[in-house]
Amino acid sequence: MEEQKQFVATEEAKGKAKQLRLFAFLAWIVAIAGEIFAILKLIHDDTMTWLIVTIVGILILAVLGSYLWKKANRLDPASEKDKTKFFIQSQLGAIMAVLAFLPLVIFIFTDKNASGKTKGIAGAVAVVALLIAGISGADFNPPSVEKYTEEINSQTAEIKDLTNGVDHVYWTPSGNKLHIYSDCQHIRNSDVSEGTVEDAWKARGIDNNEICKTCIARAEKAKSADTDTVQEEVPEGAAVE
Ligand SMILES: [Zn+2]
Repeated sequence: MEEQKQFVATEEAKGKAKQLRLFAFLAWIVAIAGEIFAILKLIHDDTMTWLIVTIVGILILAVLGSYLWKKANRLDPASEKDKTKFFIQSQLGAIMAVLAFLPLVIFIFTDKNASGKTKGIAGAVAVVALLIAGISGADFNPPSVEKYTEEINSQTAEIKDLTNGVDHVYWTPSGNKLHIYSDCQHIRNSDVSEGTVEDAWKARGIDNNEICKTCIARAEKAKSADTDTVQEEVPEGAAVE
């Protein structure tokens, strides 16, 4: 029975994730401060332009925060065992988007001093911003410790099957492919790292590592060439051309 691997984020990945999460929170805090300022000072016919400018600023910060948060989750994913914690950690970007825009939307539409025109324009901009921030903040395919563990085990098995049991792959900083051959044409001129499939998952902080198709084809060819030689050995006494 093959030993099952278990994904555990490295200390280095955890440190990087912590830093990204800190910056995500900073972006969200500034976004919500901007929202409070907009609610208190900017919902008025005279300041509608500034209100819209502020909404755009809040949107940029909300999207940036979610981007950093998702990146951190890919380095150090949550476990699916605790469903509530997993949901909050995975969807915090969408939750923050609602916090950053929904109160503002409600205040714009219920304000007594603003004209219908201001409410219509600023309100529509705020609703669109809420939708953009919410959709970009939601994680539709959130990473998890369990998913990473499953991928590591299945890809390790696939690699070993192709290479006669050798669990060794190569990868570049930018691509998402795991290569079997260091001289694969796709990584020839790149800065290449190497290790086991598990090392690659732990080092990379992305959730879509895939085995390179070119390398798979080459390994399969090498494998069938090996079996062919065994099967097609010339019988003793046969005529050799
Ligand atoms: Zn390759």
